[in-house]
Amino acid sequence: MSSSIDTRPVILTGDRTTGPLHLGHYAGSLKSRVALQRSHRQFLLLADTQALTDNAHDPEKVRRNVLEVAFDYLAVGIDPLETTICLQSALPALAELTLLYLNFVTVSRLERNPTIKTEIQLRGFERDVPAGFLCYPVAQAADITAFRATVVPVGEDQAPLIEQTNEIVRRLNRQVGRDILVEAEAMIPAVGRLPGVDGKAKMSKSQGNAISLSASPDEITDAVRRMYTDPAHLRASDPGKIEGNVVFTYLDAFSDDGQLLEDLKERYRRGGLGDITVKRHLEDILQALLAPIRERRARYAAEPGHVLGILREGSLKARERTEATLAELRAALGLFTLT
Ligand code: ATP
Ligand code: MG
Repeated sequence: MSSSIDTRPVILTGDRTTGPLHLGHYAGSLKSRVALQRSHRQFLLLADTQALTDNAHDPEKVRRNVLEVAFDYLAVGIDPLETTICLQSALPALAELTLLYLNFVTVSRLERNPTIKTEIQLRGFERDVPAGFLCYPVAQAADITAFRATVVPVGEDQAPLIEQTNEIVRRLNRQVGRDILVEAEAMIPAVGRLPGVDGKAKMSKSQGNAISLSASPDEITDAVRRMYTDPAHLRASDPGKIEGNVVFTYLDAFSDDGQLLEDLKERYRRGGLGDITVKRHLEDILQALLAPIRERRARYAAEPGHVLGILREGSLKARERTEATLAELRAALGLFTLT
């Protein structure tokens, strides 16, 4: 479809290339992306420059995972004929927009961002936070606005970052005296934050508490077996708690049978349903979800040249779109032009 007649709302979202994607990505974002790729004009960003903001000591990891994340996209059903997949570091307009936007946000505002505060704590940076890391919400604002996206399907942790983006949008629009940039809305699913298998608040690549989309059947079995339930639920006959019970949070995210799930919850609360039975049910669901993904992924991974072609083509398209936004903004700000 040519861009001049494509009136679908625009989606921009993406993932840091820090490791293969996991069930948290699936629940938080990938599932929506697959569902929306026809009704929306969708761009997916392999965020390698953002990944460098806390991995400057290991650029090889960031490089290696570009294709890994692309394999995951294709394996879950992202269709490259419907969705444009592109590489952040191949789009220089994003870096240039970031540089411009940095002048429209204060350091104290960045330091107050709740997502950044949590992430700084998790990474143990304290005062030694890399400047690039502190400023990545500005780079993310550049990504979203460069594509003129209005919809951003993300997990709950990203909500403050979309708010930060919209603040920058309003600030710039005020500066140039018209709505040159558009505000975006976070689209967060019912289970917006999948906990780690260790029960920690968020399943995350960098916390080592994830079930990856390419996990083997044995890895899935093992992860479910180790999962945290209700520590007070010792015998099957004891009444159990659903809240904070990781196994049920996973069932909320991945079960398609709402009625069966409600029945299980009811029996668990009342007493009479053992952890082993609930875990077996979850394991069946996860094995059935991941088997076809694993199989498709292996097929793409056997053809890296083909996948590279998809990224090249997508990045060319994205380059055109992001450069158009940059040119418009430079003109609106009245920057000096040499032509
Ligand atoms: P890293 O630890 O390197 O930051 P990550 O696992 O947090 O990796 P990101 O690439 O930062 O993954 O996140 C990409 C997208 O996936 C974001 O939209 C984020 O909200 C979503 N996401 C990541 N983890 C989860 C989770 N546990 N639950 C729901 N959504 C998630
Ligand atoms: Mg993250």
